[in-house]
Amino acid sequence: MANARIAIIGASLAGARAAAALREEGFDGEVLLIGAERQPPYNRPPLSKGYLRGQERFEDQLVNPAAYYAEHDIELRLGTRATAIDPSRKTIELEGGKHVGYDRLLVATGGRNRALSVPGADLDGIFQLRTVEDCDRIRAAAQTGRRAVVIGLGFIGSEVTASLRQLGVEVTAVEGNPVPLARVLGPEVGEVLAAIHRDQGVELVLEDSVAAFEGAGRVERVRTKKGRRLECDLVIAGIGIAPNSELLGAAGAAVDNGVLVDERCRTSLPDVYAAGDVANHLHPIFGRLRVEHWNNAFQQGRAAARSMLGREEPYDYLHSFWSDQYEHVIEYVGFAASWDRLVFRGRPESRKFLGFYLKEGIVRAAVGLDRGGDPEDPKGESELKLVAGLIRDRVPVEPAKLADDDVDLHHVAAAATR
Ligand SMILES: Cc1cc2nc3c(=O)[nH]c(=O)nc-3n(C[C@H](O)[C@H](O)[C@H](O)COP(=O)(O)OP(=O)(O)OC[C@H]3O[C@@H](n4cnc5c(N)ncnc54)[C@H](O)[C@@H]3O)c2cc1C
Repeated sequence: MANARIAIIGASLAGARAAAALREEGFDGEVLLIGAERQPPYNRPPLSKGYLRGQERFEDQLVNPAAYYAEHDIELRLGTRATAIDPSRKTIELEGGKHVGYDRLLVATGGRNRALSVPGADLDGIFQLRTVEDCDRIRAAAQTGRRAVVIGLGFIGSEVTASLRQLGVEVTAVEGNPVPLARVLGPEVGEVLAAIHRDQGVELVLEDSVAAFEGAGRVERVRTKKGRRLECDLVIAGIGIAPNSELLGAAGAAVDNGVLVDERCRTSLPDVYAAGDVANHLHPIFGRLRVEHWNNAFQQGRAAARSMLGREEPYDYLHSFWSDQYEHVIEYVGFAASWDRLVFRGRPESRKFLGFYLKEGIVRAAVGLDRGGDPEDPKGESELKLVAGLIRDRVPVEPAKLADDDVDLHHVAAAATR
């Protein structure tokens, strides 16, 4: 590997983290980082939060300082889209027809917003949010717009709703489920989040969806399937992303809701790896899953780099993520696509609680609303860090002890592992 070239397609969090990890691990061959966006790799979370509200600067959101790549001999090709991969020749075709070779290749192409396929979706004033340019457009529209409709109350929709309210924009949010974030956090937690939005003056149009956007050139109203007509100056749709897996799919890699990778980030093609939002990975605890979390892209970028250098370690990061909405912080650890019991420590109505998602008596995941701390905090022992231990150990716990604030979580954890 000494004189080898490692190419990375996708210059965002997973790709940039992988490039840095290659150097940290002592790789001294060529590192080529190819990215379709014009900006050096940056963090997206502030785009629905502080940066959208104009409180944070773009320069402070870079994954590595701008000078880092040159200083570490990482060739950064920005504004360059890879259009094809030939795994037999080990070459990448770039937009414009140029080819570059690789010895090992990491694909970290992330995801793109799902298309809005309703009449009027091409009117001006309708936005989706993934890049800093999307965010700049929304920010500009929010400066003159008085009324916004947000479509979808997943994480992006919920955070954008909160930020727009904080900017003084009136918001109506349309969501197909009975509460926000129902699929990930369940109806009980979703009910609390719905109440928080309402308290902030948001009108929630639930169990409904968009039939059409109407306006003369620019969006003026949203018509819903149940017949509501929501007048507005701008619309932001947060309806989820699709993984950018076509490049690898066309090259013959196995693809199913993202690029399939094993526990060492390897795709089905020789010497080709994938990480971040695009990768559907095999996890030793959770099985096969694809997540769209900052912590995963950061950790898996590094894991893929180590794997490309021949380290034989499974990627077993215990997933976690956060979301900031108004003054509230949601922290989540583990992964639970389904559960048969949700146990609260602290009353949900108090808006300060932990929720444990159990299946067959075992904690699979936990959420904290303004409680539990950051499970990733290297200093200090947060409650969610203790819960992470419970999830990793996969031992049965007594729900009554989980619920009882007088029982130290240390003891629940210790009793469970005895
Ligand atoms: C507004 C917003 C807020 C978020 N907030 C949070 C949060 O609070 N907490 C949290 O845990 N997560 C959050 N996330 C999710 C987090 O940002 C993503 O999980 C993370 O960005 C994934 O990184 P990635 O490198 O895998 O992919 P991406 O960030 O999607 O980057 C992929 C890159 O690949 C490039 N690319 C794609 N195809 C090609 C090609 N053919 N050639 C060259 N380049 C290509 C793209 O242009 C892009 O730059 C948020 C995301 C958004 C959009």
